[in-house]
Amino acid sequence: MSNQNRDLTRSNDVVIVGGGLAGLFCALKLAPRPVTVISAAPLGKGASTAWAQGGIAAAVAEGDSAEAHAADTVAVGAGLVDEAVALGLAREAGARIRDLLHYGVPFDRDLEGRLAVSREAAHSARRIVHVRGDMAGKAIISALIDAVRATPSIQVIEGYVAEALLTGNGAVAGLQVRQAGDACAKPVTIAATAVVLATGGIGHLYAVTTNPVEASGLGLAIAARAGAVIADPEFVQFHPTAIMIGRDPAPLATEALRGEGATLINDRGERFMLARHPLAELAPRDIVARGVFAEITAGHGAFLDATTALGNSFSEKFPTVHASCMAAGIDPSRQPIPVAPAAHYHMGGIAVDADGRTSVPGLWAGGEVSCTGAHGANRLASNSLLEAAVYAARIARDIDGRAPLTRARQPAVTPVRPNCAMPALSEQNLRAAMTALVGVIRDGDGLAEAVRGFAAIEGDTGNITLRNMATTALLVAASAWARRESRGAHYRTDWPGEKPVPGKRTMTTLAAARDIAALLSERPAARSAQPIIA
Ligand SMILES: Cc1cc2nc3c(=O)[nH]c(=O)nc-3n(C[C@H](O)[C@H](O)[C@H](O)COP(=O)(O)OP(=O)(O)OC[C@H]3O[C@@H](n4cnc5c(N)ncnc54)[C@H](O)[C@@H]3O)c2cc1C
Repeated sequence: MSNQNRDLTRSNDVVIVGGGLAGLFCALKLAPRPVTVISAAPLGKGASTAWAQGGIAAAVAEGDSAEAHAADTVAVGAGLVDEAVALGLAREAGARIRDLLHYGVPFDRDLEGRLAVSREAAHSARRIVHVRGDMAGKAIISALIDAVRATPSIQVIEGYVAEALLTGNGAVAGLQVRQAGDACAKPVTIAATAVVLATGGIGHLYAVTTNPVEASGLGLAIAARAGAVIADPEFVQFHPTAIMIGRDPAPLATEALRGEGATLINDRGERFMLARHPLAELAPRDIVARGVFAEITAGHGAFLDATTALGNSFSEKFPTVHASCMAAGIDPSRQPIPVAPAAHYHMGGIAVDADGRTSVPGLWAGGEVSCTGAHGANRLASNSLLEAAVYAARIARDIDGRAPLTRARQPAVTPVRPNCAMPALSEQNLRAAMTALVGVIRDGDGLAEAVRGFAAIEGDTGNITLRNMATTALLVAASAWARRESRGAHYRTDWPGEKPVPGKRTMTTLAAARDIAALLSERPAARSAQPIIA
């Protein structure tokens, strides 16, 4: 607990939920206005931000432009990117990088002192600003934490999970929080007139993921339960090369390894991507993920082989990946690395406008939990940290300009529900079902089974965390069932073709997802006599 943890009931009118880039940046931008930041994990832990390896996309190099950056973003998003949003994001990148430099992030520079930029897949120019090779996330979060700790107007409450939004007269009135890891702890009510959700992604709803346990979709669930519109939840990006060494979450073998010439092989030593795409291992992320998935499903396994491309230079060029492999007894300079696709990034989320406002008055959302329209059906690498910073700044400006400055009063109604310990098997089942039925390759019968199962958990469980996980899982599965096409990261074997560009975005609600569940529960299960979700 930090010395900034003070009185839980001493409310500021603005409460930010989340201690990653989006949450901390927003708090700093709001200073000197008093704000409370609530984080499930201690700052620096439990946030995807800290794990980012590549960096932040920004068209800051000579010869590059915001227009070119936006065009690359649109091209990757498979017909669903909002072009005005992508351009706005690209245009504000330089200003937000300057802010991060001001907060102390030591971005790498070239010999002339200009920001050093590297290239990543599907970017038409070198435009990824980075820190000491693969250390961008760690450097960003540690600079922001120092800045937050030095800002007296920011009250930080660590180790508390937001589990419900409180509303009154159709607007947000506060939050219900509970001590993390203690299902029996007494819930606490925090009053607020403006709540910013910056709770990150949903990767941990899947059995195989690169995301921290805190990325379990709880923020999205509490917004949905308060009636917020949810956009494009079916679009989940799977990273093709998570390292399979029995760790949960799985460490990442960065794309840059393939950029350096590492190849994907099966247990017979065959380069299976050669037959799947002209760019082989450098094909778009979703195509490589499906190639790896198909090889594993066929029983041939999948391995990333850097023995020829990197050999002895592996440890120097990729220290983080090298350390993960060595800890599991694999020397990646001499042995292929076992890999599998893993849930990595959520393109969908709480629908927000250009100021980060949701459809619920008094509720804003920023970072991975939100859906701005910038990513469409697939995310361009390194655009997510950029989006988190750009929208956090816009939310702060909007709240400062518009939200009432009155002191928040304790909400009259507190929806305290009895809680019970998390049933371990149900959580495991839910995560296994997400990977098996709502994963890299989907079909209508499997999605229908998932929808029925998640709706049952959502309705039945007495554990609030599990209920919120099931709420988000239901929204993802129901929207994936309703999207009868394959597009970007969403691939269905029963609807393999993509509908013409531009596509139609999903705008849904929890009530609509429950309606789909009710419809499907009237139909006989088509696939398995024994459902995966027990
Ligand atoms: C391994 C990895 C590598 C990546 N590399 C890159 C990259 O190079 N470039 C890039 O642009 N993107 C990258 N990404 C994606 C990027 O890191 C995330 O999209 C981004 O950091 C999200 O920031 P955020 O602030 O929205 O969420 P996070 O940084 O995930 O922070 C979420 C915060 O919310 C808290 N929280 C969650 N739920 C609750 C709750 N109910 N109550 C209270 N607190 C809660 C968490 O504890 C945490 O503090 C990577 C992601 C991963 C996992």
